[in-house]
Amino acid sequence: MHRDTEIVHAGYRRKTDTGPFLAGPQFSSTYASPGDPSAHALTYGRFHNPTWTVWEEALGILEGGGHAVAFASGMAAVNALFGVTLKPGDTVVLPADSYYAIRRVASTWLESIGVRVRLASTRDNAQASVLEGARLLCLETPSNPMLDVCDIRELVAAARDRGVLVAVDNTTATAYLQQPLTLGATFVVASDTKALTGHSDLILGHVATADPAFADALRAWRTHHGAIPGPMEVWLAHRSLPTLPLRLSRQCASAARLAGLLAARPEVAAVHYPGLSTHPGYAVAARQMSAFGSIVSFDLGSRSRAEAFLGALTLVREATSFGGVHSMAERRARWGGDAVSEGLVRFSVGCEAADDILHDVEAALAAMP
Ligand SMILES: *Cc1c(COP(=O)(O)O)cnc(C)c1O
Repeated sequence: MHRDTEIVHAGYRRKTDTGPFLAGPQFSSTYASPGDPSAHALTYGRFHNPTWTVWEEALGILEGGGHAVAFASGMAAVNALFGVTLKPGDTVVLPADSYYAIRRVASTWLESIGVRVRLASTRDNAQASVLEGARLLCLETPSNPMLDVCDIRELVAAARDRGVLVAVDNTTATAYLQQPLTLGATFVVASDTKALTGHSDLILGHVATADPAFADALRAWRTHHGAIPGPMEVWLAHRSLPTLPLRLSRQCASAARLAGLLAARPEVAAVHYPGLSTHPGYAVAARQMSAFGSIVSFDLGSRSRAEAFLGALTLVREATSFGGVHSMAERRARWGGDAVSEGLVRFSVGCEAADDILHDVEAALAAMP
């Protein structure tokens, strides 16, 4: 069966089942469960929820096999991953350009409990050089907001030789475009807040792994730390899943057109998009991704020019986050924390007609001082 068809049906009831295609969210903190609790499938809402169960089944299909565990947010998922893999004295290797909050957790919580943190850039597989003696290697490809790319399969091989576990933050690509478990990674971690669910209406995350013991440990972490997703969010996420192939196909096609347009404009100092043949990660991205993603980053040279551009857009919203059906853009340096230039704009291409997005961008470029 075509992968798009599998995704449309993932976790939904089968043709032979009666009732709704997808049951509504189950709101219950507790379940009638007399006597021996082990005799009951459902007992208490922090332990399990049928709305999670079908969503996790869908995520497992999306990730190309393996066990998925849903969390309250992408960061809850990242913290669970760290919690079940790292102990005092261990070393974790992180991308120097990884998501800011992840570096923050590493430099505060992890270092405070005696976990050593090594940073190396994503570009050129630089992390391979600092693997010796590590317990966990974390990758983020494409990285964010600079969209650098590393070779998952090659880094997995380097890590395996040294007994190092590999986790890939797959938020930017989503499992639709890239399946790290099938490339040999032990874990995928993702924020499902972004393109996977795509409607800018919820916060969720998940970890997936082919290792059943780690899957049990992640579920136990979720139960005991209380990092559980709400049933309403999970149901909304599942409702959004069948349109993932449609949404992302259009978003990626439009992003490629936008990158091409920007690359040809003299006002734009640099364009970062792994689908441009001039991008240093183009060949690797073409090999390990089925399309190049919905984000394009570009440098307008200065803070004032980037602000003028964002202010002149009439369709594209100025907002943080990415992957949603509505196009949005922001000047990344306004947050601090990322090593980016003052004029860098991260542009998340939505599902509007590409011509309208491109016209909006061209008009805003023309309006810059
Ligand atoms: C957004 C994001 C996260 C954190 O996810 P939340 O759902 O906001 O907690 C982690 N990693 C990457 C790459 C992200 O973009």
